[in-house]
Amino acid sequence: MHEDHVDVLIVGAGISGVCAGYHMQANCPGKTFAILEGRGSIGGTWDLFRYPGIRSDSDMYTLGFRFRPWPDAKTIADGPAILSYVRETASMYGIDRRIRFHHRVVRAEWSSEDAQWTVEAERGDTGETVALTCSFLFVCAGYYRYDAGYTPEFEGTERFTGRIVHPQQWPEDVDYAGKRVVVIGSGATAVTLVPAMAERAAHVTMLQRSPSYVVSLPGQDPLAAALRRLLPARLVYPIVRWKNVLMTMLVFQLSRRRPQAMKALIRRALEKRLPAGYDIDTHFKPRYNPWDQRMCLVPDGDLFEAISAGRASVVTDRIDTFTEKGLKLASGAELEADLVVTATGLNLVPLGGVDIAIDGEDVELPETLTYKGMMLSGVPNLAFAVGYTNASWTLKCELTCEYVCRLLNHMDEHGQAVCTPRNRDPSVTAEPLIDFSSGYVQRAIAQFPRQGSQAPWRLYQSYPRDVMLLRFGPVADEAMEFSSPAPVAERAAA
Ligand SMILES: Cc1cc2nc3c(=O)[nH]c(=O)nc-3n(C[C@H](O)[C@H](O)[C@H](O)COP(=O)(O)OP(=O)(O)OC[C@H]3O[C@@H](n4cnc5c(N)ncnc54)[C@H](O)[C@@H]3O)c2cc1C
Repeated sequence: MHEDHVDVLIVGAGISGVCAGYHMQANCPGKTFAILEGRGSIGGTWDLFRYPGIRSDSDMYTLGFRFRPWPDAKTIADGPAILSYVRETASMYGIDRRIRFHHRVVRAEWSSEDAQWTVEAERGDTGETVALTCSFLFVCAGYYRYDAGYTPEFEGTERFTGRIVHPQQWPEDVDYAGKRVVVIGSGATAVTLVPAMAERAAHVTMLQRSPSYVVSLPGQDPLAAALRRLLPARLVYPIVRWKNVLMTMLVFQLSRRRPQAMKALIRRALEKRLPAGYDIDTHFKPRYNPWDQRMCLVPDGDLFEAISAGRASVVTDRIDTFTEKGLKLASGAELEADLVVTATGLNLVPLGGVDIAIDGEDVELPETLTYKGMMLSGVPNLAFAVGYTNASWTLKCELTCEYVCRLLNHMDEHGQAVCTPRNRDPSVTAEPLIDFSSGYVQRAIAQFPRQGSQAPWRLYQSYPRDVMLLRFGPVADEAMEFSSPAPVAERAAA
């Protein structure tokens, strides 16, 4: 056998790649596997992002792994704590020894004759291109480009005498103590940066084109705190995890079914947190319904506290141009700044930007349908870990890891080597994978695979439903085709 062949090749060593490694070891102990990671370290998102205040915006009881309880009392955790948790998990289970760093996967080609993938990776440390083969490819590469975040074209940036930074490439030497800072954006990153930078800056202005829903959550879970006094952590974890799963679902369902009631609840909470007479309509009343875009969560209302204390403010306007001293806005107002942070988002990319081909023909991802939110129609022996948009990412990724192991074990038990989801139902229609109206989704969604109108091609974004489907449902269903390549002798005779 080829020296560099593994049964399962995992791409990416972030939360989902580490999770995949754990489940391969625990549930498929007979399989060989390796993890190829493009960067030089473990942790993905939590290693890349270094901006002030970086933290989770979903609770760690659901962002943590099911197999390893989140050890801290804080439910909204800071980036370094999450990174340590992911790294400790990798070393605790020996997954770190399976990672080949500086291997960025660029292409994977399936050979039907050999029933295997040939995967090409560019080595960032030596500049070489290396090839490996594997029987099953498991892409755990996240959902956005690592090399650059999204920045719109702004006029006049060359005139600006201050500094402009993007949160995805936060330079270590940025000193904002006593400086006037403008953060452009209204998403999760902007609402995290503003209160964190307001602690040391002279003043921080959040400059947004249009408002988002911003909701405060307790930084520590009161139920977890109470239970921790009575029960061991390993018992508290699943209870609080399920409580949070159900609460998140309730908020999502209420938002989708009774948007007016949800808007009224959010409004009342804002009125309590913000100073009397604050212009909520302009700065915190979005034009869309709750959960038509991802909602922004702030722990213990830190953003509202910074605004109430006068250390931060929100301006809702459009940028006309950068000037020498700051920004000129469409309303004619000017904002002076020493530092401008462009919290303007990510560039989404499917499957880690890996080009996929089958027997020499490129696979056009938008022509494929997602199967159970983890495989692609017509593409053999390939799965990907992608999380929820309305709940913690890890919940779905971990179910996907469990399912991949079940699928591999099923094939071994039945002497099959290849599994390919195929849609034979003409009544299934194709729809966009994500229905968010956010700019970052709309900019990229056309490059992504699509979802179908019915199961198993549809993404339901529901953890309890996926538990039934992926943990307990059959792996051999009508849409999954199992096969084996003909033995070499038969092929030669043919
Ligand atoms: C600032 C920020 C905050 C977030 N907060 C939350 C939150 O609170 N809750 C939540 O649920 N989600 C959150 N997310 C989404 C977050 O990305 C996921 O929760 C989770 O970290 C994703 O893990 P992952 O392993 O799937 O992907 P990533 O963390 O993106 O890791 C992917 C890994 O794959 C590697 N890789 C990518 N392409 C290739 C390739 N071609 N070859 C080799 N290696 C490759 C990357 O280098 C990286 O190490 C946040 C995202 C961001 C950007």
